[in-house]
Amino acid sequence: PKSRDGYQWTQSTGLIEGVPTPGLIQPSTHFTRNKLYDVIVIGGGYAGLTTCRDLALAGNNVLLVEARDRIGGRSWSSNIDGYAYEMGGTWVHWHQPFVWRELRRYGMMDQLEVSPRKNVEGGAKVTVNLDGVVRHLSHDEEDATVESAFKKFINVDGQFGRSVIPYPHDIEFNMAGVQEYDHMSMAERMAQVSMHLTPLEKNMFEGFLAITHGAKWEEASFFELLRWWALMNYNFPDFMAIGLTYKLRDGQSTLARRIFDEAVATGRLDYTFSTPVKDVVDHGHGVEVTARNGVEVFKGRRLVCTVPLNVLHTLAFTPALPTLKTEASLAGHVNQVVKCHAEVANPEMRSLGATNYPSGRLTYTFGDGTTPAGNTHLVAFGSSLPGSHLDPEQDIQVTKQAFEAFHPDMKVQRLVFHNWHKDEFARGAWEWLRPGMTTKYLHALRERHGNVFFASSDSSFGWRGFIDGAIDDGGRVAKIVHDELRVVRPVGSKL
Ligand code: FAD
Repeated sequence: PKSRDGYQWTQSTGLIEGVPTPGLIQPSTHFTRNKLYDVIVIGGGYAGLTTCRDLALAGNNVLLVEARDRIGGRSWSSNIDGYAYEMGGTWVHWHQPFVWRELRRYGMMDQLEVSPRKNVEGGAKVTVNLDGVVRHLSHDEEDATVESAFKKFINVDGQFGRSVIPYPHDIEFNMAGVQEYDHMSMAERMAQVSMHLTPLEKNMFEGFLAITHGAKWEEASFFELLRWWALMNYNFPDFMAIGLTYKLRDGQSTLARRIFDEAVATGRLDYTFSTPVKDVVDHGHGVEVTARNGVEVFKGRRLVCTVPLNVLHTLAFTPALPTLKTEASLAGHVNQVVKCHAEVANPEMRSLGATNYPSGRLTYTFGDGTTPAGNTHLVAFGSSLPGSHLDPEQDIQVTKQAFEAFHPDMKVQRLVFHNWHKDEFARGAWEWLRPGMTTKYLHALRERHGNVFFASSDSSFGWRGFIDGAIDDGGRVAKIVHDELRVVRPVGSKL
């Protein structure tokens, strides 16, 4: 089963749009026309799927309306020749409580696989292209260099950020600290610190950061990095272990599928895929949702909107959304990072790590797995700094060369990717807010608007910008909506 999303390239097939995924839903619709649903959920990413499942399990009739032909939103995997390529959200960890609960719930704990293998046979190599001069480091040297720079960058309080964000899941505890650093851009923080970095530290750390926020330095809030750091236990080894190490062997779409299937099994989840929503009208007694084709109109007593922050302003709401919500969406989060996979006929590259910053169109890669054919799977990221942003499908040779630039012996056989930057239902990758946005907009984004509720990884507390944040927020809103409906549900309606 092939989704319309994503791309695959091999020498023999050329570029093909659409890749297979277990997240494809066929048949694509299952709903009753003119039915009044308890809740309509827009969007079937992790936030929407969690909302649907929790509400359906609790006894509500739910309709999921999703623009794509598949579930998972920004987290989905394509299984090609027996191997799962993660197109978006990938790495999970037991320090992420909400996603961990899901893995436990579905008995998927044994699915965890270690992504970077730094010490496999064949040489643990890291190459760094430093102003045209290629340096070879061990992985230990790589870690030590980035860690040293990271600690200088993050240490605003002499306590490596602990006093600024003492409770990473609740930013209210220290709003003064949040305000101080939320208004600081990554560029401003770099200006304060860069004279303390060695040239190698500066190059490697900047390369690392550029794909963390995926934006121009002056557009990305420094607070977001402090928040990530706090969530990841205020230290570098945990940052790498939690953020970039454990993935699911069969891919994220298999987890999304479990949530969806459990909801459908209740008999109370209906759905319609390939159905982008155009507008939402709240009549006070209920909500009407019109699809982009203008033909389908769905009715619900409540609505949960889970579209990404950068997409929200493309839906028309009556009554109009509060100014702060619209303003936040129009400003948008800034992350336009590029993620791209290559299957390379170089088994020895399983332990490769390489950076090619700032000149590379892809700036960071590492061995992410071994395919059934015995080849290495490399995952690579590209920044969105001016002049270096890559739209991989636009010139596949440039994309291939961006991989080849990491290592002279690289034999690229396959490329797999999803261009999130050009995706109209995402308009970017994981959330990374602009300076000042957390302080100004976060609360407003989470507020209900009449019968319309909002859940998203992009505006969750805790692991905002991560899979965990999406599940957290979807569950939170499901509970609020269920409690409200339970109170107003007419008593004795079965009589
Ligand atoms: P989404 O998944 O975006 O779901 C929103 C849904 O709304 C989508 O399905 C969309 O199609 C739908 N929609 C949009 N517009 C409409 C419309 N008009 N009508 C109907 N439906 C609509 N997180 C991690 O934890 N670990 C990682 O390693 C990681 N890596 C990432 C790498 C990349 C490249 C990307 C893009 C993200 C990554 N993330 C990672 C972040 C994570 O994927 C997201 O935070 C999370 O999946 C977002 O979930 P969500 O449900 O809030 O939003």
